[in-house]
Amino acid sequence: MPDGWSWPFRCSSCGREYPREALPFRCAVCGGHYDLADPLRYAPIPVPGLERYRDSFPLPPGARLLSLGEGGTPLVGQEIEGKRVFFKCEYLNPTGSFKDRGTAVLISALAAAQVREAIEDSSGNAGASFAAYAARAGIRAKVFMPDSASGPKRAQIEAYGAEVVSILGPRSEAAQAVVRAAEAGSVYASHAYMPQILAGMATFAFELVEQLGRAPGALLLPVGQGTLLLGAYLGFQALARQKLIQQLPQLIGVQARACAPLWAVHEAGMAGLGWVQEGQTLAEGIRILNPLRGDAVLAAVDATQGGIEVVEESEIPAGRRALAERGFFVEPTSAVIWSALLRRLPGLPEPIVVALTGSGYKSAWNGA
Ligand SMILES: [Zn+2]
Repeated sequence: MPDGWSWPFRCSSCGREYPREALPFRCAVCGGHYDLADPLRYAPIPVPGLERYRDSFPLPPGARLLSLGEGGTPLVGQEIEGKRVFFKCEYLNPTGSFKDRGTAVLISALAAAQVREAIEDSSGNAGASFAAYAARAGIRAKVFMPDSASGPKRAQIEAYGAEVVSILGPRSEAAQAVVRAAEAGSVYASHAYMPQILAGMATFAFELVEQLGRAPGALLLPVGQGTLLLGAYLGFQALARQKLIQQLPQLIGVQARACAPLWAVHEAGMAGLGWVQEGQTLAEGIRILNPLRGDAVLAAVDATQGGIEVVEESEIPAGRRALAERGFFVEPTSAVIWSALLRRLPGLPEPIVVALTGSGYKSAWNGA
């Protein structure tokens, strides 16, 4: 790290600054997560892809952005029930999901800090993205995964050369194992915790406004941890502060009813938590029982007059099929937005934007 430079992060609970000498995923004193200490600035430079926004990222001066060509995803407009709807094709990022925006920034930070090895515990899109960018950076990647995890995402993680540490038992066992390893000194490149991720996600908002020439009226996106929603919110706030957009879009998060804690709390306050379950769902990527920044997600939704929509399990394959019939091949997690869009469509201000977050190649097509 350059002399005098420090990571611009602060503990969300106790306000402590981020240490210079290590890369903790949470505050050693109070256990809180770190957030960006300062508001983001929109300061594009005339180059393509994520590099365009590198001056907005919390990276040391002179740090290289280790890119795989992420960002600059297509925005495709179609007419749906008489309204213009734009699909932001995040599934066309290098590893097939929106996660690459955040991972490029996080792994660049780790490389700048000369990290040689890092760990993760996602068997899904975050794990695949981590494995790819770690390979790009020459960082040894270890991914803690439930013994039972299989399928295209696991194969993708292994293909990038990550070492898979199989953990017996449910997903939560792998999460505990990775935290133990982090506490023993490993760098935990967590998509949920690390604030670099949010800065990368903000580029989604920057690009969208550049492509549309204005802010969307409403933005729908699937939410689990809500990193894309929160990052986009930071991006829109930066644009509004700099008077480049007139107003913030309504942010509408979509969850699967089988595991919908944000929806429950939004509907019923803390009492809603009583009826939240970690049920099985085709939307595995948003099956998050305790979103780390859940309060911030709900605050962003309320501040923009948005909301949280919930979809039934049977609507997910139907949504996937409907999107495919329009030319968009996405995974089931991304397909939750279809029914939510149709339900909300009559009341949404245009232009309406939908985030298509993950590729259809990442899961089997069961038709259903
Ligand atoms: Zn703290």
